[in-house]
Amino acid sequence: MEYDIDSEARARAARRDEAVRGAVEQGLLGPDVAVVGLLDVTGIRESAAALRAAFDAVVAPGTPVLHAFAVKATPLVPVVRLLHEEGIGAEVASPGELALARAAGLPPDRMVLDSPAKTPAELREALTLGIAVNADNPQELARLDALVRAAPTRSPLGLRINPQVGGGSIGATSTATQTSKFGVALRDEGAREWVVQAYADRPWLTRLHAHTGSQGIPLSLLARGVARTYALAEEINARIGRPQIDTLDIGGGLPVDFAAEATAPTYAQYARLLAEEVPGLFDGRYGLVTEFGRSLLARHGTVVARVEYAKSSGGRRIAVTHAGVQVATRTVYAPGAWPLRIAAYDAKGRPKAGPEVVQDVAGPACFSGDLLAEGRALPLLEQGDYAAALDTGAYYFAHHYAYNSLARPGIYGFAPDGSGGVAFATVREPQSVAEVVAESGGAHASALTTLRARGSR
Ligand SMILES: *Cc1c(COP(=O)(O)O)cnc(C)c1O
Repeated sequence: MEYDIDSEARARAARRDEAVRGAVEQGLLGPDVAVVGLLDVTGIRESAAALRAAFDAVVAPGTPVLHAFAVKATPLVPVVRLLHEEGIGAEVASPGELALARAAGLPPDRMVLDSPAKTPAELREALTLGIAVNADNPQELARLDALVRAAPTRSPLGLRINPQVGGGSIGATSTATQTSKFGVALRDEGAREWVVQAYADRPWLTRLHAHTGSQGIPLSLLARGVARTYALAEEINARIGRPQIDTLDIGGGLPVDFAAEATAPTYAQYARLLAEEVPGLFDGRYGLVTEFGRSLLARHGTVVARVEYAKSSGGRRIAVTHAGVQVATRTVYAPGAWPLRIAAYDAKGRPKAGPEVVQDVAGPACFSGDLLAEGRALPLLEQGDYAAALDTGAYYFAHHYAYNSLARPGIYGFAPDGSGGVAFATVREPQSVAEVVAESGGAHASALTTLRARGSR
């Protein structure tokens, strides 16, 4: 089924406007609550459905497919639970993410553990629970050897390779460069032979994993990474003489266009590209795992912050808001790579009209670079208005950065209330100042003043 991308985008923008107004009317946002994160439940369900439909359309009937949400993109229990209800599993990469997915109610067979630095205890827990694990490197594989010898496990086990297809436009999210820290670098001397032998020696090694990159990677490069992974699986199975690798984990990484409302590229475009470039991938011989993060959630989150002051400095117009580095860390520190669209709302939460004026949208933190946007043409933001940072549902307000001891904002999900309004549900309580103190060593106030080397008195 092909939907109309523009009408989907318009509907999403309309829901967002309704939510901002509802948040102001219902007091989730106001003079005393200066910043919130909002999550569009309808949009999240739509993206999950689009992901499922995109791969259903290209895989042979009966092919097992697990779409595992990369929990790091939006590490919030209610979000993982919502996705679970929509048929989406979880890719986890730390003890915290694993615990969070379990708290969301996910059973072990809906999870994949992928982190690059797993301790022996974490590996043992995953194998005891029966959660799929992708080993990152030969040393980790040796740990799995010992665990598999010690006790039988239901965990499907695989190896992560780096197909070394090169990077994209953002170095920090390029995972398949020549020298990436992730996986076994496939094209290094002797590596391919080592990988083939590793599978030949271990009949229980049944999965092959690659994640070729995140934001900034073009689709063609993602597809090349998947093609190399597929080709390796074919080679390994041929050399072993049986289909030992039964599942390919193709990672995530679909980019999001932060400059526009329309979803592009779509899951359907990516799935069709893979079907063209790697036809054998979907013919039913391999089960599939995907690990999308940003593309599932980014569009559905909005940070809304009150404009505390509007000022002018040396001819520069500045709206000083309550959203900055603490909720949009990447954008503030690397604005060229991570620009965000900003929407202007008035004090009642209605989209602001009026002529566009070039202005800066600043955050509350005490350094001059704390800017959400620089030189942006927007209706003039005034004291008491609201500025919204769009497409911040992944890797933004869920990733609080405690600069200036700024408190974590509350996060609320929204959906139509059935009678023309908006209903909200608490996803994460706002952090209180008392909690900030407690998390900053408040219980240990005299720890340093009373510390003495033993025997010094
Ligand atoms: C971060 C990550 C993902 C998700 O990447 P997105 O760009 O958010 O889709 C998937 N798999 C692994 C192993 C990751 O590290």
